[in-house]
Amino acid sequence: QAKSNGRNAVCFFDPEMQAAANIRAELETDLHRAIQFNQFELYYQPQVNQQGHILGVEALIRWHHPEKGLISPLDFIPIAEETGQIQAIGLWVIEQACFQLKQWQDKIDSTFSISVNVSSKQYQNDSFVNDVVEIIQGLAIDPKQLKMELTESVLSDNVDTIIEKMWQLQELGIGFALDDFGTGFSSLSYLKKLPLNYLKIDKSFVQDLHHNTSDAAIAKTIVGLSQSMNIDVIAEGVETELQLKLLNSYGCNIYQGYLFSKPVPAEDIQFTVSELLQD
Ligand code: C2E
Ligand code: MG
Ligand code: MG
Ligand code: MG
Repeated sequence: QAKSNGRNAVCFFDPEMQAAANIRAELETDLHRAIQFNQFELYYQPQVNQQGHILGVEALIRWHHPEKGLISPLDFIPIAEETGQIQAIGLWVIEQACFQLKQWQDKIDSTFSISVNVSSKQYQNDSFVNDVVEIIQGLAIDPKQLKMELTESVLSDNVDTIIEKMWQLQELGIGFALDDFGTGFSSLSYLKKLPLNYLKIDKSFVQDLHHNTSDAAIAKTIVGLSQSMNIDVIAEGVETELQLKLLNSYGCNIYQGYLFSKPVPAEDIQFTVSELLQD
């Protein structure tokens, strides 16, 4: 069985694997031109409080491929991370998000923030902090309006160097969220080493909250953990009123999910208070 071989076993006589390898190679080549040809777009998804008021948005990248159509970040970010293209793409994302803050200037207040996803690979680049500072200064952005979402994978390599860079950016005012929390393999003892402002409850724990008691227990534990760390907690993937009610009862007060809005292009963001929560 070709497929049950080790991870590194590449069997080019298996037509299915050959096809997958071809698609990957094509995407990798096309990625090189994607920035230059303006094929990336940031979609934004609101992060709201109990009153349905937008506190900020998460920026989520989309790739408009000229032949293949809209490609999910789940399909090209891993490739970009492997090839190193994530460095340029990641900076494009930060710059575009800062540019969007400028564009929205008249519609938002000083507490409104955009959260960008940052790959831990970007933190391994020595010039990362400088590059970010240059973007922020170049566009005269208040660093408090920029947040970075990182996953537990920051805890894998060069932890101390990465944490040092996070501190430098946090000192400027940039906030940090630990994304997809609970899905990684980090030990809790590492958690307290990271300069964090938010934990994000992964949508996999939110999905079945109402009938899966262990998911509910995990969600409650993450809320409790954030309270004891004295930081905020955001639930992602909130799709139903029931999930919202349960999360609220656990003490989680910031939500993100299809119940409020899917990620949408910048021009479709509604800044008015959501009517969902008005009763
Ligand atoms: P993430 O950062 O955990 O983002 C949340 C994902 O959940 C997004 O998927 C979002 O569209 C989706 N989502 C939000 N609310 C709901 C909901 O109620 N139900 C369901 N089923 N899904 C919901 P998306 O946009 O496909 O992004 C996937 C992942 O790709 C992100 O997960 C993030 O890890 C990565 N990503 C996206 N943009 C960037 C980027 O600019 N840079 C990097 N490095 N990674 C990115
Ligand atoms: Mg995220
Ligand atoms: Mg997430
Ligand atoms: Mg996720």
